[in-house]
Amino acid sequence: MVKVDIKYTKLFINNEWVDSVSKKTFPTINPQDETVITQVAEGDKADVDLAVAAAKKAFHRYSEWRLMDASHRGRLLYKLADLMERDAKYLSELETLDCGKPVKQAEAEIIWAANIVRFYAGKADKITGNTIPADGEVLTYTLKEPVGVCGLILPWNYPIPLLTFKISPALAAGCTVVVKPAEQTPLTALAMAALVKEAGVPPGVLNIVNGYGPTAGAAIAKHPDVDKISFTGSTEVGRLIMNVAAAENLKRVTLELGGKSPLVVFNDADVEKAAALAHRAAFANGGQCCVAGTRTYVQSGIYDKFVAKAAEIAKKRTVGNPYTDVQQGPQIDLDMFNKVMGYIDAGKKAGARCVAGGNRQGKLGYYVEPTVFADVKDDMKIAREEIFGPVQSILKFDTFEEVVNRANDTNYGLGAGVITKDISTALAFVKQVRAGTIWVNTYEHVAAQTPFGGFKESGIGREMGEDGILPYLESKTVTIDLPKKPLL
Ligand code: ADP
Repeated sequence: MVKVDIKYTKLFINNEWVDSVSKKTFPTINPQDETVITQVAEGDKADVDLAVAAAKKAFHRYSEWRLMDASHRGRLLYKLADLMERDAKYLSELETLDCGKPVKQAEAEIIWAANIVRFYAGKADKITGNTIPADGEVLTYTLKEPVGVCGLILPWNYPIPLLTFKISPALAAGCTVVVKPAEQTPLTALAMAALVKEAGVPPGVLNIVNGYGPTAGAAIAKHPDVDKISFTGSTEVGRLIMNVAAAENLKRVTLELGGKSPLVVFNDADVEKAAALAHRAAFANGGQCCVAGTRTYVQSGIYDKFVAKAAEIAKKRTVGNPYTDVQQGPQIDLDMFNKVMGYIDAGKKAGARCVAGGNRQGKLGYYVEPTVFADVKDDMKIAREEIFGPVQSILKFDTFEEVVNRANDTNYGLGAGVITKDISTALAFVKQVRAGTIWVNTYEHVAAQTPFGGFKESGIGREMGEDGILPYLESKTVTIDLPKKPLL
């Protein structure tokens, strides 16, 4: 086991490390061996109140942050990105310790996340309004202003990248933030907070309150001085947060929620390449990915060959100690492990054909064998519900019309993919499938520049790219009396 130095376990409020008001702590568990890594300060409503007060003060119109040139906000974010790269090895080892993802993958994610920070660093001084040819004798223009104090509630599957999805546009826009990381992965957000401070961001601009969802998370969603919530997590909790946030003070809300994304493989695809791509789509991050392509629809002409290849690749997938050169580590925690095993059981009982995996791996840690089900039917639980584990469902189809209907027959709409050599088929698919991102002959390519988010119950709003900063801005319209004729 790699020894990782844990430097921070307290709450981060006003650029200071503090105990929780109650002095309570909670354990964070190592998914590799189910041991306690360390105790972490457990925030609740009283701590959220302090963090929001700090964020509100930092947002005051004469605060250092508000008076700072926009270009300087950008420079602080560029500095943060450089510090992330400087500490990439440490951050990735810490991330692996807390969430079990392979350390090489974690390191690649930190470089990716640093580029997201840079994208928004560059945007900080390019946030502009419009001049508007309004009817009447007036001059009208718009200002884009920061929305205010933002509550950012995070999941555990990509702790550092998802933190940067939210803090980068928020800080570039001039907002201040209170972050609640997932209770399964409280550590790396604290290490990131130390870098934000080192970069020179003033006190109160970024605050981190670890704790549980129904306590610390709910307090942020409800707080009357929080102007906006950005949440990534389950559809169920997203719905809850939306209700609370709207009921209290009509907070602006953006949500990035679950998915059950279809990846459709047509007869003209190269079977080997398609099976490899579909494997990556389903199993990336151990399947703990909201946009995982877990419904693999394969056209009947290549179906048998594809199933055999998919099983072969899954059986070769390396699973084990995430500090070694493996493709997959343990699932995040006991709850998720049990949930995933429950779905595997449900698939078997429903009569799907298990062609790879299907069991726990080993006896210690939350490891699950990469599992492939063939002959899955649309009404089976494993085809309808988000599993969030290493489970691929393969379904057979005959025609384009049929598969588009089936792909769309879900309440989700986060991602979708199509594999074909025929450009007309690909473009028709793009037009007719309802999802926030559609990949053609690739999958899960998400860059700093590309808007990401969902149709239907997969979310509200977009993160990343040009669109990703809009939820952190309010538009102010300024109209000035200006006679059209000369004054004299
Ligand atoms: P997952 O299913 O991916 O664990 P959840 O939606 O349960 O995702 O949790 C995502 C984030 O939402 C976590 O930070 C969690 O603590 C938080 N959370 C859970 N319940 C609530 C709630 N009632 N109010 C606010 N935040 C919550």
